[in-house]
Amino acid sequence: MYDLVIKGGNIIDPVDGIYEANIGVENDRIAYIGSEVVKATREIDAAGCFVSPGFIDLHSHENAVKEGSIEKGIFESSVLMGVTTTIGGNCGMGPVVLDDYREALEKNGAPLNYAALSGHAFLREAVGCTDRYSRATKNQADKMVDLLREALNKGASGLSVGLEYTPGASTEELLELSKTVAEYEDRLVSVHYRFDGERALEAVAELIIVARETGVRMQISHLGSGTAFGKTDEALSMIESAYNAGVDVGFDVYPYAAFCSLIGSAVFDEGCLQRWGVDYSAIKVVEGKYCGELCTPEIFMEKRSNEPETMVVAFVMDEEEIIRAIQHPMAIIASDGRIIKGRGHPRSAGTFPRVLGHYVREKGYLELVTAIYKMTGLPAKRLRLDSRGRIRTGYFADVTIFDYENIIDRATYEQPALSPGGINSVIVNGVEVVRDGEMTGAMPGAFLYR
Ligand SMILES: [Zn+2]
Repeated sequence: MYDLVIKGGNIIDPVDGIYEANIGVENDRIAYIGSEVVKATREIDAAGCFVSPGFIDLHSHENAVKEGSIEKGIFESSVLMGVTTTIGGNCGMGPVVLDDYREALEKNGAPLNYAALSGHAFLREAVGCTDRYSRATKNQADKMVDLLREALNKGASGLSVGLEYTPGASTEELLELSKTVAEYEDRLVSVHYRFDGERALEAVAELIIVARETGVRMQISHLGSGTAFGKTDEALSMIESAYNAGVDVGFDVYPYAAFCSLIGSAVFDEGCLQRWGVDYSAIKVVEGKYCGELCTPEIFMEKRSNEPETMVVAFVMDEEEIIRAIQHPMAIIASDGRIIKGRGHPRSAGTFPRVLGHYVREKGYLELVTAIYKMTGLPAKRLRLDSRGRIRTGYFADVTIFDYENIIDRATYEQPALSPGGINSVIVNGVEVVRDGEMTGAMPGAFLYR
């Protein structure tokens, strides 16, 4: 007698491929896979559906902790699109005070498993380096190393850096911090690189050098967002040659040709439009005054000086390059999602269903099993997550059941939190968090320590 049986589905495993079987779940683990009729307290009929390992989102952002609980937002959007494990604190951005977050998660729960990266911008702030355009002093850099080491000792999965947001951070600063991370062989440094557009290759080269010099495991974040201006193919071959030469470098991509950020961030500093070859109308305001409107020079200036915290979307990348990046054998699919009070980028609620429904089923850009590997087995390997990322006996019962004919993203730039179609059930650590496309309210997610 099992706790849960998933009956009659087509299992899709990144290694074993597609085959029909029943799954028996005991506690938080997959205890049985086979053709026998198994009895359980609860049964999910998966006939006609694919039963996949839950998606592992290696690059995401989390909502803040308020009064001891994690605010609603991205976690809900993530599980509704099939994600069972998410990695937050990316792009150098906390504020991930690891202790607060872990306590909130362990006390009040989360619908999915969460692992944290220590954010570089937060480290800078904590040591008093508050000007994003200035270099850290030697003393500040040393203090950052101490704080980072403390976070790593407390189980952080690595360090995240957003060089485009903190242009003052030097390569030396990155080298110092990366050396510290390299002392922990299972951790990552995940970097939002320094330049997009014209200078993107220079920015990718900087990260390859840091990885080579320090031996750190380097993850280049959302590759297409900076290179899909005619630079992607060369960036891919640079990464590939470095990897083949023994440098531990990897990358992830989200399946959209627009990025989103705060209008006051350094990404939108003078010269950005020329670099991208667009005018102000390529930038859309997605919250507050002028919400839904494309920028004019006046709107852009007004928002940037008066409300720099406003989220905007920039339609500036070449989608064909994004597709080629996703097709590369090393590419991991990750969302870079962020939803605050229902606002953000549709990738937060649509990334994985968009790849499966639009890129795989409708366009045929990828084989289904390959796409699933890029969402499950490959990120699990990169994160060194034991016992997740496959449908296998003894593995955690993190499972996403989807209807291939109907899977599709529905989130738009206007309604970025709309949940997708075709994700029927999501199971985290053996517990259903999504049933018939709706949240069940269960909070079985764990804080994943290193
Ligand atoms: Zn980023």
